[in-house]
Amino acid sequence: MSGKSTITVSIRFYEELNDFLKKSRRKIRFTRIYRHNTSLKDCIESCGVPHTEVDLILVNGISADFDQLINGGDDISVYPVFESFDISGVTRLMGRPLRDLRFVADVHLGALAKKLRLLGFDTEFSNDASTEALLESVRGEKRVLLSRNRKLLMRRVVNRGLFIRSNDPEKQCVEVVRRFDLTRSIKPFTRCMACNSHLAPTPKEKVLPRLEPLTKKYFFEFSGCTGCGNVYWKGSHYGKLEAFLERVRMSNDPKEIMKIRVDCYSGYRGEETPRRFWLEERLVEIKQIVDRWLDPEHRYFKVLGDDNSTYILRHDSTTFVWELTFYQREKNQLR
Ligand SMILES: [Zn+2]
Repeated sequence: MSGKSTITVSIRFYEELNDFLKKSRRKIRFTRIYRHNTSLKDCIESCGVPHTEVDLILVNGISADFDQLINGGDDISVYPVFESFDISGVTRLMGRPLRDLRFVADVHLGALAKKLRLLGFDTEFSNDASTEALLESVRGEKRVLLSRNRKLLMRRVVNRGLFIRSNDPEKQCVEVVRRFDLTRSIKPFTRCMACNSHLAPTPKEKVLPRLEPLTKKYFFEFSGCTGCGNVYWKGSHYGKLEAFLERVRMSNDPKEIMKIRVDCYSGYRGEETPRRFWLEERLVEIKQIVDRWLDPEHRYFKVLGDDNSTYILRHDSTTFVWELTFYQREKNQLR
């Protein structure tokens, strides 16, 4: 495309969003040519990144939403969902978590669906669900779509979804718990792993005819599925399940926002700009200010330290306190 009907923008994807890009476009700002009247959603997805993975878009340093149309010369920065990263003052595209988060898993994620049910999360799954059926669950029941299919997540009706990265069901489960901050909402053994219905305590007499002799002898507490009638008890698999739950909980320890000491110089437009900072006793020299932005109460600086880790430092404009709100070690950084 060329000529009067097209415009050129510069675009940069951050952190794990780079996974979706062609190798030559990773970790750098690149230019792209589009037709007039292209939305940010279409612009971002044409690079391979589903909109469900994006939490923040800055156009020329100002937050924007997916429907905004691009203009020639725009500088577009696209950020993933940050863990423990408070950007409440800017437009957070994915909104606040739904009060009762409900999921629908695509046909390849049956093992994940079972694990989420085990944690007590309402997760619809059928191994022969059509695309239309999945999208109807998203639209009609406001379910969050879990999928490894990028094209599916790019559908406009999918306003909440998660691209599942791992092949391993346990790691997939951790991805979901982390992204939606679900550790405190885990209610294990309350939902049927087979059919997703609620479990209810069931008197032993009622299930007696269905039990093996040893189960009859050694177990006293039973739960029955209100949907399919399956019976559950704390049998030989229970220890394994408890261990799994503990691993999921441990993997999601919330990171605390950390107060830090920062040394500044008078930089860009005379603003105080961080030059180095201390993490406990450790001094980190700032090699590069990667990006910066503002909300009503804070200034944010995304910086690259001399340890090649990425940090986001936040300065409170009222209390003048500096905090570390995001940190990523070199090995995980921008694969
Ligand atoms: Zn059931």
